[in-house]
Amino acid sequence: MRFHIITIFPEMFDSYLKESIIGRAIKNKKISVKFYNPMDFCKPKERVDGRPYGGGPGMVLRPELFLKAFEKALFATRKFSSGPRFSGAPHPGQTFRKLSSGSKLKVILFSTSGKKFTTAYAKASAKKYTDIILISGRYEGIDARVQKILKAEEISIGDYVLSGGELPALVLMDSIARQIPGVLGKYESLEEERVSTSEVYTRPEVLKWKNKNYKVPKVLLSGNHKKIDEWKKDSKEV
Ligand code: SAH
Repeated sequence: MRFHIITIFPEMFDSYLKESIIGRAIKNKKISVKFYNPMDFCKPKERVDGRPYGGGPGMVLRPELFLKAFEKALFATRKFSSGPRFSGAPHPGQTFRKLSSGSKLKVILFSTSGKKFTTAYAKASAKKYTDIILISGRYEGIDARVQKILKAEEISIGDYVLSGGELPALVLMDSIARQIPGVLGKYESLEEERVSTSEVYTRPEVLKWKNKNYKVPKVLLSGNHKKIDEWKKDSKEV
């Protein structure tokens, strides 16, 4: 999976992408992450944002700069495909594009009012696409014409307002990456192939804390995998 991120703050991603599962996935070439900064298309002394039409306190990100960054990202996705190239705008309402060599591109724009991101969406995306372009807003958001021109799918990661689309891009990449075979190592495993729960325990079997004993549920010590899976389902299946 190749992730292409359009952001005015690419450095925010550095530390997270270096570590642990996602760092390893990049090193093992299971995923790749590239950045396209709309600021690079700003002429000297120009600003990346402008005052909002209709008034209001926040600034709005300028459309041309994001469209130019998108063109650059699109060009990068084409590099991986051979034969006739993807041409022009997709059909109205179409947010998924089939590139010739079998590459499949999805374009996502982060928005507080978008469709809610879920594990089911992550699973489906890991199967369907080879390239995902993620467009992160900041300030009051990106000029709405960018979404209209690109027919990007608007995605929200939850009912709260963040300062930008960078955390949502990391959330989405992390969640999609772990659905790609070979990304989770031998101590983890693909959620799809097992019953996964958020209620988990490790040693000690009896935890003594401030004069109280906290025990691991008996069933988990039983070795009976059928019963254990049933327990996981009843407890807090993810
Ligand atoms: N007043 C704006 C606030 C924009 S927040 C509004 O209500 O939409 C700035 C940017 O951060 C957004 O354009 C979006 O790209 C991103 N963002 C903030 N919260 C988000 C969330 N919960 N999910 C996805 N993107 C979010």
